[in-house]
Amino acid sequence: MTIFNLGSINADMTYRVRRLPRPGETIATQSLDRGLGGKGANMSVAAARAAGRTAHIGAVGPDGAWAVERLMEYGVDTRSIARVDAATGHAIIAVDEAGENTILIHPGANAAITPEMVAAALDMARPGDLFLFQNETSAQAEGAEMAREKGLRVAHAAAPFDAEAVKRVLPLLDLIVLNAVEAEQLEEATGKPPEALPIRDVIITLGSEGCRWVHTPTGASRDFPAYRVTPVDTTGAGDTFTGYLLAGLDRGMPMAQSIAQAQRAAAIMVTRRGTADVIPDLKDVQDSLL
Ligand code: ADP
Repeated sequence: MTIFNLGSINADMTYRVRRLPRPGETIATQSLDRGLGGKGANMSVAAARAAGRTAHIGAVGPDGAWAVERLMEYGVDTRSIARVDAATGHAIIAVDEAGENTILIHPGANAAITPEMVAAALDMARPGDLFLFQNETSAQAEGAEMAREKGLRVAHAAAPFDAEAVKRVLPLLDLIVLNAVEAEQLEEATGKPPEALPIRDVIITLGSEGCRWVHTPTGASRDFPAYRVTPVDTTGAGDTFTGYLLAGLDRGMPMAQSIAQAQRAAAIMVTRRGTADVIPDLKDVQDSLL
C-alpha cells in the first residue's frame, strides 16, 4: 500500500537575533539556518522513516530543488512534486535570546497546487491506499473527493485550523488527527463533540498527556499516556505522530499499535532540536528504551 500525502513543502529560515524587531525597526541577524519544513513535508518524512511507502503530492518553485532532493534522500517518492512559477513556500522565523519567536509563512508554490496535479498523482493509486492532507495547500477538498472516489482511505490533520476548510472536508474523512486546541475549535465550529462527528476514527493528541482515540461507530474511546521524556523542542511532534500513525496503518498494523508507535516516535522527537531533518527512523524508535 502507499500513502499519498498532499502537503506543503517549506524552507524554514531560522534567524537568531538579540531581540525581536519593533514595527519600523531594522535589525541585523546573528545567524541563519535553512531547514526542510512545512507540515506536509514533515509528515512525508515521518511516514517514510517509519517504513511507509510514501508519495508526496506538492509543488515547489525554481528555488526548491534542494527540498525535493532532501525528501528523496529521506525515502519519499517525489515524482508528484510539480515545479511551478512561484517562490517555494517558506517560513521566516526570528528567535531571540530568550527563545521567543515571530514567524511569517509565505505559502508560495504550496498554494499553486491544482486539482489536475492531484489527479495525475492519484492515477498511480489503488483502492486501499491512504490519502493524507493538512491545511497548508490548495486543492485539498478536490483531492479528498478524488481519493474517496478511487476507494482510498482519507486522513486529515486539521492544522493550521480553519473552521470553513475543515467543515468542507469533514464528510470525506475516515480519520482525523487534531491537537487539543484544534479539537476544541472543531467542537465550537460544528457544535458536535468528537464522538458525534461523521468520521470513523478521531484522534486527539494531548501533548505530554498523550492522546485519545475515539472510534465513533461504537462510541468507544481509549486514552494512551505519553512516554515520559524531558522535552527540548516540541516543534514537529504532532507531524511526526501523524506520519508514523499513517505508516503503521498503511502497513496493516491495528490502530492501537500504530498509535503506540507514533507516540514513541513523537516522544523521541521532542528530545531533539529541529524539524524534518531530525525525525527519528523506525530503528531509533524500535531500539529506544522508552
Ligand atoms: P502538536 O505538536 O500538533 O500540537 P501535541 O503537542 O499534542 O501536538 O503532540 C503530539 C504528540 O507528541 C502527543 O500525542 C505525544 O505523543 C507527543 N508529545 C508531545 N509533547 C510531548 C511530551 N512533552 N512528552 C512526551 N510526548 C510528547
